[in-house]
Amino acid sequence: MLTKFLKEVVTIVVGKQVEDIVNLLDSKKHINEFLIAKKMDITINQARNILYKLSDNGLVSSIRKKDKRKGWYTYFWKIEIFKSLEFLRKILEKRIEQFNNQIKSRELKQFYICERCNIEFNEENALLHDFTCNECGSIFTIKDNNKVLREFKKNVAKLERELEFVNEEIAKEKEKIDKIKLKEIKKEEKIKLEKRLAKKKERDKLKKKIVKKKIKKPIKKKKTKKKINKKHKIKKTKKKKSFKKKKK
Ligand SMILES: [Zn+2]
Repeated sequence: MLTKFLKEVVTIVVGKQVEDIVNLLDSKKHINEFLIAKKMDITINQARNILYKLSDNGLVSSIRKKDKRKGWYTYFWKIEIFKSLEFLRKILEKRIEQFNNQIKSRELKQFYICERCNIEFNEENALLHDFTCNECGSIFTIKDNNKVLREFKKNVAKLERELEFVNEEIAKEKEKIDKIKLKEIKKEEKIKLEKRLAKKKERDKLKKKIVKKKIKKPIKKKKTKKKINKKHKIKKTKKKKSFKKKKK
């Protein structure tokens, strides 16, 4: 169904004879324009003309890559499914509106026809022509609108059915796009988190270094501690001595 719609879009914009370009452009990757020309069996300029027409309507996207040896750019193309479907939706809505206007006007107004020339006139124009054909001189007859109305209503129903399917495809495509966007957001968040963690690690390393330096500095304190210990020992020995003295 989707391919059929995409082909319809290409047919509207460029022409039915090139609708098969959709088979090449409906791809995940962008396709080399020289390959498109080769596969379509047309010249590169013909291929580019088609692609530019589609591009003017936003229906295809392109990327370019520089040929390192030759120094020129080659373009790669891909169909934009969502935009193409929206383009088709607008066209279908417009056609439905036009048919509905025709139906309204034919239900309200009388139409006249020259049966010999098969030319149709609305009431105003028929009056202007005095209900007589310019070409053959025949007198107009009142046109039976019922047949035309039935035809128009059938067309509207058909277009509305197609529009429904197009809207379904658009919804599917939107879901795909949203999923991709969500993935990208999650990926970005993951990268941000990793960066934050990396920064934190660096900060922690720095802190450890600072702490080590701080530990190395107060060597003097240790010496004083030792001195204190010596004093203690001295005191202890003194105490012992005094104790010994007491014993005596
Ligand atoms: Zn006539």
